[in-house]
Amino acid sequence: MSNRLQTEQIQQLDSQHHLHPFTTHQTLRAASGPRVIVKGEGAYVFDSEGNRILDGMAGLWTTNIGYGSKELAQAAYDQILELPFYNTFFKTTHPPVVALARKLAELAPANLNQVFFGSSGSESNDTAIRLIRHYWVLKGEPKRRIIISRKNAYHGSTIAAGSMGGMSHVHQHSYPVYEGFRHVMDPYWYGESFDGETPEAFGLRAARAIEDEILRCGPENVAAFAGEPVQGAGGVKIAPDTYWPEVQRIVDKYGILLLADEVITGFGRLGTWFASEYYGIRPDLITFAKAATSGYVPLSGVLVGDNIADALMAENDDFNHGYTFSGHPVACAVALKNLEIMERDRLVPRVKETTGPALARMLARFKDHPLVGEVRSVGMMGAIELVADKKTRRRFSDLGRVGLICRDHFFRDGFIMRAVFDTMVCAPPLIWADTQFEEASAVIER
Ligand code: PLP
Repeated sequence: MSNRLQTEQIQQLDSQHHLHPFTTHQTLRAASGPRVIVKGEGAYVFDSEGNRILDGMAGLWTTNIGYGSKELAQAAYDQILELPFYNTFFKTTHPPVVALARKLAELAPANLNQVFFGSSGSESNDTAIRLIRHYWVLKGEPKRRIIISRKNAYHGSTIAAGSMGGMSHVHQHSYPVYEGFRHVMDPYWYGESFDGETPEAFGLRAARAIEDEILRCGPENVAAFAGEPVQGAGGVKIAPDTYWPEVQRIVDKYGILLLADEVITGFGRLGTWFASEYYGIRPDLITFAKAATSGYVPLSGVLVGDNIADALMAENDDFNHGYTFSGHPVACAVALKNLEIMERDRLVPRVKETTGPALARMLARFKDHPLVGEVRSVGMMGAIELVADKKTRRRFSDLGRVGLICRDHFFRDGFIMRAVFDTMVCAPPLIWADTQFEEASAVIER
Protein backbone atom coordinates (compact mmCIF):
# COMPACT_ATOMS: atom_id res chain seq x y z
CA MET A 1 0.00 0.00 0.00
CA SER A 2 1.32 3.46 -0.83
CA ASN A 3 2.20 5.85 1.97
CA ARG A 4 -0.55 8.21 0.84
CA LEU A 5 -3.24 5.52 0.96
CA GLN A 6 -2.08 4.30 4.33
CA THR A 7 -2.10 7.85 5.68
CA GLU A 8 -5.64 8.45 4.41
CA GLN A 9 -6.83 5.25 6.05
CA ILE A 10 -5.35 6.21 9.38
CA GLN A 11 -6.87 9.69 9.11
CA GLN A 12 -10.28 8.24 8.31
CA LEU A 13 -10.19 5.86 11.26
CA ASP A 14 -8.96 8.70 13.43
CA SER A 15 -11.95 10.84 12.51
CA GLN A 16 -14.33 7.91 13.13
CA HIS A 17 -13.01 6.86 16.52
CA HIS A 18 -10.59 9.26 18.10
CA LEU A 19 -11.49 12.38 20.09
CA HIS A 20 -8.45 14.65 20.40
CA PRO A 21 -7.55 16.85 23.38
CA PHE A 22 -7.99 20.62 22.92
CA THR A 23 -9.19 20.28 19.31
CA THR A 24 -12.01 21.69 17.20
CA HIS A 25 -13.05 18.43 15.60
CA GLN A 26 -14.93 20.11 12.79
CA THR A 27 -11.81 21.98 11.72
CA LEU A 28 -9.75 18.83 11.97
CA ARG A 29 -12.15 16.99 9.66
CA ALA A 30 -12.53 19.90 7.25
CA ALA A 31 -8.75 20.14 6.84
CA SER A 32 -6.83 17.27 5.35
CA GLY A 33 -6.93 15.46 8.71
CA PRO A 34 -4.28 15.18 11.38
CA ARG A 35 -0.65 14.78 10.49
CA VAL A 36 0.26 11.17 11.27
CA ILE A 37 3.49 11.02 13.27
CA VAL A 38 5.08 7.59 13.16
CA LYS A 39 8.63 7.84 14.42
CA GLY A 40 11.07 9.97 16.39
CA GLU A 41 14.84 10.20 16.29
CA GLY A 42 17.00 12.71 18.16
CA ALA A 43 15.56 16.19 17.59
CA TYR A 44 13.23 15.08 14.78
CA VAL A 45 9.94 13.29 14.27
CA PHE A 46 8.82 11.67 11.01
CA ASP A 47 5.33 11.57 9.53
CA SER A 48 3.65 8.71 7.70
CA GLU A 49 4.72 10.14 4.35
CA GLY A 50 8.38 10.04 5.29
CA ASN A 51 8.80 13.77 5.97
CA ARG A 52 11.32 14.73 8.61
CA ILE A 53 10.09 17.41 11.02
CA LEU A 54 12.23 19.35 13.49
CA ASP A 55 10.39 19.36 16.81
CA GLY A 56 10.56 22.83 18.35
CA MET A 57 8.17 21.89 21.16
CA ALA A 58 9.87 18.78 22.63
CA GLY A 59 6.63 16.90 21.98
CA LEU A 60 4.74 19.03 24.48
CA TRP A 61 7.52 20.53 26.66
CA THR A 62 8.51 16.94 27.35
CA THR A 63 11.17 15.07 25.37
CA ASN A 64 14.20 16.75 26.95
CA ILE A 65 16.69 14.08 25.85
CA GLY A 66 15.16 13.78 22.36
CA TYR A 67 13.61 10.79 20.64
CA GLY A 68 14.72 7.20 20.11
CA SER A 69 16.85 6.59 23.21
CA LYS A 70 17.78 2.92 23.28
CA GLU A 71 18.91 3.33 26.87
CA LEU A 72 15.40 4.31 27.97
CA ALA A 73 13.92 1.47 25.93
CA GLN A 74 16.30 -0.94 27.64
CA ALA A 75 15.45 0.42 31.10
CA ALA A 76 11.73 -0.11 30.39
CA TYR A 77 12.36 -3.60 28.95
CA ASP A 78 14.45 -4.71 31.92
CA GLN A 79 11.92 -3.42 34.45
CA ILE A 80 8.98 -5.02 32.62
CA LEU A 81 10.70 -8.38 32.83
CA GLU A 82 11.65 -7.90 36.47
CA LEU A 83 8.42 -6.41 37.84
CA PRO A 84 6.02 -4.78 35.36
CA PHE A 85 3.62 -3.57 38.00
CA TYR A 86 2.83 -3.64 41.63
CA ASN A 87 0.90 -1.12 43.68
CA THR A 88 2.29 0.96 46.53
CA PHE A 89 -0.97 1.21 48.48
CA PHE A 90 -1.08 -1.54 51.06
CA LYS A 91 2.19 -1.42 52.94
CA THR A 92 4.25 -2.42 49.89
CA THR A 93 6.99 -0.68 48.00
CA HIS A 94 9.58 -1.61 45.33
CA PRO A 95 13.17 -0.66 44.49
CA PRO A 96 12.59 1.69 41.51
CA VAL A 97 10.07 3.90 43.34
CA VAL A 98 12.37 4.22 46.34
CA ALA A 99 15.42 4.97 44.19
CA LEU A 100 13.54 7.59 42.19
CA ALA A 101 12.04 9.29 45.24
CA ARG A 102 15.51 9.53 46.75
CA LYS A 103 16.99 10.91 43.52
CA LEU A 104 14.25 13.53 43.19
CA ALA A 105 14.75 14.63 46.79
CA GLU A 106 18.45 15.05 46.00
CA LEU A 107 17.73 17.24 42.94
CA ALA A 108 14.95 19.32 44.53
CA PRO A 109 15.30 22.30 46.88
CA ALA A 110 16.51 21.23 50.34
CA ASN A 111 13.16 21.36 52.18
CA LEU A 112 11.41 18.98 49.75
CA ASN A 113 12.21 15.40 50.71
CA GLN A 114 9.09 13.33 50.08
CA VAL A 115 7.39 12.49 46.79
CA PHE A 116 3.79 11.51 46.06
CA PHE A 117 3.61 9.98 42.56
CA GLY A 118 0.99 10.05 39.81
CA SER A 119 0.92 9.75 36.04
CA SER A 120 -0.04 13.18 34.68
CA GLY A 121 0.54 16.82 35.52
CA SER A 122 -3.18 17.25 36.15
CA GLU A 123 -3.11 14.43 38.69
CA SER A 124 -0.10 15.92 40.43
CA ASN A 125 -1.93 19.22 40.84
CA ASP A 126 -5.04 17.44 42.15
CA THR A 127 -2.80 15.70 44.69
CA ALA A 128 -1.24 19.03 45.66
CA ILE A 129 -4.66 20.63 46.13
CA ARG A 130 -5.76 17.79 48.42
CA LEU A 131 -2.48 17.87 50.34
CA ILE A 132 -2.78 21.63 50.85
CA ARG A 133 -6.34 21.42 52.18
CA HIS A 134 -5.57 18.36 54.30
CA TYR A 135 -2.53 20.09 55.77
CA TRP A 136 -4.60 22.97 57.07
CA VAL A 137 -7.16 20.59 58.54
CA LEU A 138 -4.34 18.78 60.36
CA LYS A 139 -2.99 22.11 61.59
CA GLY A 140 -6.37 22.94 63.10
CA GLU A 141 -7.18 25.67 60.58
CA PRO A 142 -9.82 24.02 58.37
CA LYS A 143 -11.18 27.39 57.21
CA ARG A 144 -8.05 27.87 55.13
CA ARG A 145 -9.37 26.48 51.86
CA ILE A 146 -8.90 29.21 49.26
CA ILE A 147 -6.11 28.76 46.73
CA ILE A 148 -5.08 31.86 44.84
CA SER A 149 -3.73 31.31 41.34
CA ARG A 150 -3.51 33.45 38.23
CA LYS A 151 -5.38 34.34 35.10
CA ASN A 152 -4.02 32.60 32.08
CA ALA A 153 -2.50 29.82 34.19
CA TYR A 154 -2.66 26.22 33.00
CA HIS A 155 -2.59 23.57 35.70
CA GLY A 156 -4.30 20.69 33.90
CA SER A 157 -7.66 19.37 32.77
CA THR A 158 -9.04 17.39 35.68
CA ILE A 159 -11.82 19.30 37.40
CA ALA A 160 -9.77 20.47 40.38
CA ALA A 161 -6.64 21.32 38.37
CA GLY A 162 -8.83 22.91 35.69
CA SER A 163 -10.49 25.03 38.36
CA MET A 164 -7.14 26.18 39.68
CA GLY A 165 -6.11 27.11 36.13
CA GLY A 166 -7.05 30.55 34.91
CA MET A 167 -7.47 30.31 31.14
CA SER A 168 -10.91 31.68 30.46
CA HIS A 169 -11.48 29.52 27.38
CA VAL A 170 -10.82 26.39 29.46
CA HIS A 171 -13.17 27.60 32.21
CA GLN A 172 -15.92 28.53 29.78
CA HIS A 173 -16.67 24.85 29.38
CA SER A 174 -19.58 24.18 31.65
CA TYR A 175 -18.19 21.55 33.94
CA PRO A 176 -18.83 22.27 37.61
CA VAL A 177 -15.84 24.34 38.59
CA TYR A 178 -14.86 23.74 42.18
CA GLU A 179 -15.27 26.52 44.69
CA GLY A 180 -12.36 28.02 46.51
CA PHE A 181 -10.09 29.24 43.73
CA ARG A 182 -9.40 32.93 43.07
CA HIS A 183 -7.51 34.24 40.07
CA VAL A 184 -5.35 37.33 40.08
CA MET A 185 -3.47 39.05 37.23
CA ASP A 186 -0.57 37.26 35.62
CA PRO A 187 2.87 38.92 35.44
CA TYR A 188 2.66 39.65 31.71
CA TRP A 189 4.47 42.93 31.30
CA TYR A 190 4.15 43.23 27.51
CA GLY A 191 0.38 42.83 27.56
CA GLU A 192 -0.67 44.23 30.92
CA SER A 193 1.65 47.09 31.86
CA PHE A 194 0.57 50.73 31.91
CA ASP A 195 2.18 53.22 29.51
CA GLY A 196 5.71 53.85 30.70
CA GLU A 197 5.57 51.30 33.54
CA THR A 198 8.94 49.60 33.93
CA PRO A 199 9.10 45.79 34.12
CA GLU A 200 10.38 46.15 37.70
CA ALA A 201 7.46 48.31 38.83
CA PHE A 202 5.00 46.10 36.97
CA GLY A 203 6.44 42.94 38.59
CA LEU A 204 5.83 44.41 42.05
CA ARG A 205 2.29 45.49 41.10
CA ALA A 206 1.46 42.01 39.76
CA ALA A 207 2.78 40.34 42.92
CA ARG A 208 0.86 42.76 45.14
CA ALA A 209 -2.36 41.71 43.41
CA ILE A 210 -1.89 38.47 45.39
CA GLU A 211 -1.67 40.40 48.66
CA ASP A 212 -4.79 42.40 47.75
CA GLU A 213 -6.65 39.15 47.11
CA ILE A 214 -5.44 37.64 50.41
CA LEU A 215 -6.80 40.67 52.23
CA ARG A 216 -10.09 40.54 50.32
CA CYS A 217 -10.58 36.86 51.21
CA GLY A 218 -9.37 37.30 54.78
CA PRO A 219 -5.90 35.82 55.41
CA GLU A 220 -7.40 33.25 57.81
CA ASN A 221 -9.27 31.70 54.82
CA VAL A 222 -6.34 31.44 52.43
CA ALA A 223 -4.48 28.13 52.11
CA ALA A 224 -1.96 28.68 49.34
CA PHE A 225 -0.77 30.56 46.30
CA ALA A 226 -0.11 28.45 43.18
CA GLY A 227 1.80 29.47 40.08
CA GLU A 228 3.91 28.23 37.20
CA PRO A 229 7.37 29.85 37.56
CA VAL A 230 6.99 30.70 33.85
CA GLN A 231 3.50 30.47 32.36
CA GLY A 232 4.02 28.02 29.53
CA ALA A 233 0.74 27.12 27.85
CA GLY A 234 -0.35 30.73 28.46
CA GLY A 235 2.31 31.87 25.97
CA VAL A 236 5.67 31.79 27.77
CA LYS A 237 4.88 34.67 30.11
CA ILE A 238 8.11 35.43 31.94
CA ALA A 239 7.74 37.44 35.14
CA PRO A 240 9.98 40.49 35.64
CA ASP A 241 12.83 39.95 38.14
CA THR A 242 10.97 41.72 40.93
CA TYR A 243 7.94 39.42 40.84
CA TRP A 244 8.94 36.13 42.52
CA PRO A 245 10.91 37.65 45.44
CA GLU A 246 7.84 39.78 46.20
CA VAL A 247 5.56 36.72 45.94
CA GLN A 248 7.81 34.88 48.40
CA ARG A 249 7.70 37.87 50.79
CA ILE A 250 3.90 37.92 50.63
CA VAL A 251 3.33 34.18 51.19
CA ASP A 252 5.81 34.32 54.11
CA LYS A 253 4.07 37.35 55.61
CA TYR A 254 0.66 35.65 55.65
CA GLY A 255 1.98 32.15 56.41
CA ILE A 256 0.30 30.57 53.37
CA LEU A 257 1.74 27.69 51.37
CA LEU A 258 3.48 28.18 48.03
CA LEU A 259 2.84 25.65 45.26
CA ALA A 260 5.19 25.86 42.26
CA ASP A 261 3.71 24.05 39.26
CA GLU A 262 6.89 22.90 37.53
CA VAL A 263 5.21 20.51 35.11
CA ILE A 264 6.92 22.43 32.30
CA THR A 265 9.86 24.09 34.05
CA GLY A 266 11.02 21.03 36.01
CA PHE A 267 14.03 18.99 34.83
CA GLY A 268 16.27 21.62 33.41
CA ARG A 269 14.26 23.80 31.06
CA LEU A 270 15.60 26.97 32.70
CA GLY A 271 19.13 25.66 33.25
CA THR A 272 18.50 24.52 36.83
CA TRP A 273 16.84 21.25 37.80
CA PHE A 274 13.84 23.20 39.03
CA ALA A 275 12.86 26.77 38.20
CA SER A 276 12.30 27.41 41.90
CA GLU A 277 16.07 27.36 42.21
CA TYR A 278 16.41 29.72 39.22
CA TYR A 279 14.05 32.26 40.82
CA GLY A 280 15.28 31.70 44.39
CA ILE A 281 11.85 30.81 45.75
CA ARG A 282 11.11 28.30 48.51
CA PRO A 283 7.95 26.41 47.55
CA ASP A 284 6.24 24.08 50.03
CA LEU A 285 5.20 21.86 47.11
CA ILE A 286 6.49 21.38 43.57
CA THR A 287 4.39 19.51 41.03
CA PHE A 288 6.20 17.84 38.14
CA ALA A 289 5.48 15.52 35.18
CA LYS A 290 6.41 15.62 31.47
CA ALA A 291 10.23 15.66 31.27
CA ALA A 292 10.73 13.45 34.34
CA THR A 293 10.80 10.56 31.88
CA SER A 294 11.37 12.75 28.79
CA GLY A 295 7.81 11.68 28.04
CA TYR A 296 8.74 8.08 27.16
CA VAL A 297 6.18 6.82 29.68
CA PRO A 298 3.76 8.80 31.87
CA LEU A 299 4.97 9.77 35.33
CA SER A 300 4.22 12.74 37.55
CA GLY A 301 4.38 13.67 41.18
CA VAL A 302 4.42 16.20 43.95
CA LEU A 303 7.59 17.03 45.83
CA VAL A 304 6.31 17.65 49.33
CA GLY A 305 7.88 20.02 51.87
CA ASP A 306 9.02 18.77 55.27
CA ASN A 307 6.37 20.92 57.00
CA ILE A 308 3.55 19.13 55.14
CA ALA A 309 5.19 15.70 55.34
CA ASP A 310 5.71 16.08 59.11
CA ALA A 311 2.02 16.91 59.58
CA LEU A 312 1.04 13.84 57.54
CA MET A 313 3.44 11.59 59.47
CA ALA A 314 2.01 12.80 62.78
CA GLU A 315 -1.51 11.83 61.73
CA ASN A 316 -2.75 8.46 62.95
CA ASP A 317 -5.06 7.97 59.97
CA ASP A 318 -5.00 7.32 56.21
CA PHE A 319 -4.44 10.11 53.71
CA ASN A 320 -7.24 8.86 51.49
CA HIS A 321 -5.79 9.69 48.13
CA GLY A 322 -3.80 7.84 45.47
CA TYR A 323 -3.75 6.39 41.99
CA THR A 324 -3.33 2.77 40.91
CA PHE A 325 -0.27 3.88 38.98
CA SER A 326 1.29 6.00 41.77
CA GLY A 327 4.96 5.01 41.58
CA HIS A 328 4.58 2.65 38.60
CA PRO A 329 7.80 0.60 38.54
CA VAL A 330 8.39 0.88 34.78
CA ALA A 331 7.83 4.64 34.82
CA CYS A 332 10.17 5.00 37.80
CA ALA A 333 12.91 2.93 36.12
CA VAL A 334 12.64 5.03 32.95
CA ALA A 335 12.71 8.27 34.95
CA LEU A 336 15.86 7.17 36.80
CA LYS A 337 17.62 6.36 33.53
CA ASN A 338 16.42 9.62 31.99
CA LEU A 339 17.84 11.64 34.89
CA GLU A 340 21.10 9.68 34.67
CA ILE A 341 21.38 10.54 30.96
CA MET A 342 20.61 14.19 31.61
CA GLU A 343 23.35 14.32 34.24
CA ARG A 344 25.86 12.38 32.15
CA ASP A 345 25.31 14.57 29.07
CA ARG A 346 25.24 17.78 31.15
CA LEU A 347 21.94 18.80 29.53
CA VAL A 348 20.98 21.10 32.41
CA PRO A 349 24.18 23.19 32.67
CA ARG A 350 24.23 23.30 28.85
CA VAL A 351 20.96 25.27 28.94
CA LYS A 352 22.81 28.01 30.82
CA GLU A 353 26.04 27.78 28.86
CA THR A 354 25.01 27.15 25.24
CA THR A 355 21.48 26.11 24.29
CA GLY A 356 19.60 28.82 26.25
CA PRO A 357 21.77 31.66 24.86
CA ALA A 358 21.43 30.13 21.35
CA LEU A 359 17.63 30.19 21.64
CA ALA A 360 17.73 33.81 22.83
CA ARG A 361 19.96 34.76 19.87
CA MET A 362 17.70 32.96 17.42
CA LEU A 363 14.61 34.79 18.66
CA ALA A 364 16.39 38.15 18.84
CA ARG A 365 16.86 38.04 15.05
CA PHE A 366 13.13 38.69 14.71
CA LYS A 367 12.61 41.45 17.22
CA ASP A 368 12.77 44.29 14.69
CA HIS A 369 10.35 42.67 12.28
CA PRO A 370 7.29 44.93 11.76
CA LEU A 371 4.87 42.18 12.89
CA VAL A 372 6.80 41.23 16.01
CA GLY A 373 5.70 42.94 19.22
CA GLU A 374 8.02 41.16 21.61
CA VAL A 375 10.46 38.27 21.66
CA ARG A 376 11.19 36.73 25.05
CA SER A 377 12.92 33.66 26.38
CA VAL A 378 14.35 32.13 29.51
CA GLY A 379 16.52 29.04 29.25
CA MET A 380 15.07 26.75 26.61
CA MET A 381 11.60 28.25 26.41
CA GLY A 382 10.82 31.26 24.28
CA ALA A 383 8.17 33.11 22.30
CA ILE A 384 7.60 35.56 19.49
CA GLU A 385 4.46 37.61 20.04
CA LEU A 386 2.94 38.97 16.84
CA VAL A 387 0.94 42.21 16.71
CA ALA A 388 -0.89 44.18 14.04
CA ASP A 389 0.72 47.43 15.18
CA LYS A 390 4.12 47.37 16.77
CA LYS A 391 3.90 50.94 18.15
CA THR A 392 0.56 50.62 19.91
CA ARG A 393 0.83 46.86 20.60
CA ARG A 394 -2.57 46.48 18.92
CA ARG A 395 -3.50 42.86 18.32
CA PHE A 396 -4.98 41.38 15.17
CA SER A 397 -8.77 41.53 15.16
CA ASP A 398 -9.11 37.82 14.36
CA LEU A 399 -6.98 36.62 17.26
CA GLY A 400 -5.64 33.17 16.56
CA ARG A 401 -5.60 33.29 12.77
CA VAL A 402 -1.90 34.08 12.68
CA GLY A 403 -1.33 31.01 14.77
CA LEU A 404 -3.21 28.84 12.32
CA ILE A 405 -1.29 30.21 9.35
CA CYS A 406 2.00 29.63 11.10
CA ARG A 407 1.03 26.13 12.08
CA ASP A 408 0.21 25.19 8.48
CA HIS A 409 3.43 26.73 7.30
CA PHE A 410 5.49 24.91 9.88
CA PHE A 411 3.99 21.61 8.91
CA ARG A 412 4.83 22.22 5.24
CA ASP A 413 8.32 23.43 6.05
CA GLY A 414 9.25 20.63 8.43
CA PHE A 415 9.39 22.48 11.72
CA ILE A 416 6.94 22.51 14.63
CA MET A 417 6.38 25.44 16.97
CA ARG A 418 3.25 25.99 19.01
CA ALA A 419 0.79 28.82 18.50
CA VAL A 420 -0.82 30.35 21.59
CA PHE A 421 -3.24 32.72 19.88
CA ASP A 422 -0.81 35.07 18.10
CA THR A 423 2.25 34.05 20.04
CA MET A 424 4.69 31.60 18.45
CA VAL A 425 6.14 29.40 21.15
CA CYS A 426 9.35 27.38 21.04
CA ALA A 427 10.59 24.93 23.70
CA PRO A 428 12.94 22.48 22.01
CA PRO A 429 14.45 19.29 23.37
CA LEU A 430 17.56 20.22 25.38
CA ILE A 431 19.80 18.40 22.87
CA TRP A 432 19.58 21.01 20.09
CA ALA A 433 22.88 21.96 18.43
CA ASP A 434 23.72 24.90 16.12
CA THR A 435 22.30 23.18 13.03
CA GLN A 436 18.85 22.86 14.63
CA PHE A 437 18.80 26.53 15.64
CA GLU A 438 19.80 27.50 12.07
CA GLU A 439 17.14 25.26 10.56
CA ALA A 440 14.43 26.62 12.84
CA SER A 441 15.43 30.19 12.23
CA ALA A 442 15.11 29.82 8.46
CA VAL A 443 11.55 28.47 8.76
CA ILE A 444 10.46 31.10 11.28
CA GLU A 445 11.67 33.80 8.92
CA ARG A 446 9.66 32.35 6.01
N1 PLP B 1 0.68 22.12 34.69
C1 PLP B 1 1.30 22.75 33.68
C2 PLP B 1 2.13 23.95 33.99
C3 PLP B 1 1.16 22.29 32.37
O1 PLP B 1 1.75 22.95 31.37
C4 PLP B 1 0.40 21.13 32.14
C5 PLP B 1 0.26 20.59 30.77
O2 PLP B 1 0.73 21.14 29.81
C6 PLP B 1 -0.23 20.51 33.21
C7 PLP B 1 -0.06 21.01 34.48
C8 PLP B 1 -1.08 19.30 33.00
O3 PLP B 1 -0.30 18.21 32.71
P1 PLP B 1 -0.95 16.91 32.00
O4 PLP B 1 -1.35 17.33 30.63
O5 PLP B 1 0.16 15.90 32.04
O6 PLP B 1 -2.12 16.50 32.84
